[in-house]
Amino acid sequence: LNELSKFDPEVAKAIEDEINRQRDKIELIASENFTSEAVMEVMGTPLTNKYAEGYPGKRYYGGCEYVDVIENLAIERAKKIFGAEHVNVQPHSGAQANMAVFFAVLNPGDTVLGMDLAHGGHLSHGSPVNLSGKYFNIVSYGVSKETFRIDYDEVRKIAKECKPKMIIAGASAYPRIIDFKAFREIADEVGAYLMVDIAHIAGLVAAGLHPSPVPYAHFVTTTTHKTLRGPRGGMIMCTGEFAKAIDKAVFPGIQGGPLMHVIAAKAVSFKEVMSDEFKQYQTQIVKNANTLANAMIEKGLNIVSGGTDNHLMLVDLRNKGITGKEAQFMLDEVNITVNKNGIPFDTQSPFITSGIRVGTPAVTARGMKENDMFEIADLINLALTDFENSKQDIKDRVKALCDKYPLYK
Ligand code: PLP
Repeated sequence: LNELSKFDPEVAKAIEDEINRQRDKIELIASENFTSEAVMEVMGTPLTNKYAEGYPGKRYYGGCEYVDVIENLAIERAKKIFGAEHVNVQPHSGAQANMAVFFAVLNPGDTVLGMDLAHGGHLSHGSPVNLSGKYFNIVSYGVSKETFRIDYDEVRKIAKECKPKMIIAGASAYPRIIDFKAFREIADEVGAYLMVDIAHIAGLVAAGLHPSPVPYAHFVTTTTHKTLRGPRGGMIMCTGEFAKAIDKAVFPGIQGGPLMHVIAAKAVSFKEVMSDEFKQYQTQIVKNANTLANAMIEKGLNIVSGGTDNHLMLVDLRNKGITGKEAQFMLDEVNITVNKNGIPFDTQSPFITSGIRVGTPAVTARGMKENDMFEIADLINLALTDFENSKQDIKDRVKALCDKYPLYK
């Protein structure tokens, strides 16, 4: 940060502090990851200077010949990875990718059936405080009270009652495999579009570790920065018949100029996704999550639905007599980063919650393996059950673990 340190030491210092925070703490936020240095390098290039409204070969600005090459590479790689007929790599974020799909095929007031935020869905799937909830008539489905898994018969029943124009599958805090074929059958029975948001599991889908929604969904949206491990951004995949509608909805519908430095970083991260190392990395994420969940269960922690099939788990803290908010603060103090998270049927408010969400993409990106998950389970359990007596011990052990797996050397 040579230039920056000279010109703006305040911002430079905050960035250095953030880099050290990422290095020195155990990062267990399920939606976060550490991108490669190649991906970060691309985001700091002069591509950030370029306006390129429109699409490759059909831009509203001159001088787009090189950014066209880049956007085409990103599109072609994404198509190959996911087997999608059409891809739009321009959404600035996951929420904007979702909004573009709504804008492409829905009208204000249309009924949309999505997963309840309180049961693991995302804000942009119809929360009343989000544009999706304000402009559309949202009906929600949740998980079963017995299994904490999606009950597809219940989804079908609700769909038949509310006759949605679109059904949304996909979640931010659901630890189990989602049956996209079942969702498509329900959508067909009621004449609805199916949109699947794979923001969280995109890396697993790309590596073949979670069934792909692409053969079943009309629209698949994702972020590129979670398990996929690319730059912060969004993407939409769809069948050929919706290609034009989706492209028009993204630009000029809801966005202006695309972020070409981010699209280039998406292209680079997709090249990484196509490697054998990426498949091994995703396999290790799932192994680590499974090991961590089982190790926490052994220690007496309650894991929602009894485990995980993917990269994340929800810890129900009610048997420990602490809230999600308290747990997040305590873990923060000993350098373990998680987020408080509502658990299905939670009686606490979203600001307090009865649970925490724990994910393994970031620690796995550092190189951690199953043995390290046993250590992390022990540290979390110690923090939640014997905080005052074990604080210093936990901090020392967190430091040892972080030092063993250096980040951004
Ligand atoms: N969709 C899902 C399922 C998510 O979990 C998230 C983010 O957490 C998003 C969409 C939104 O992504 P972004 O924060 O890039 O808008």
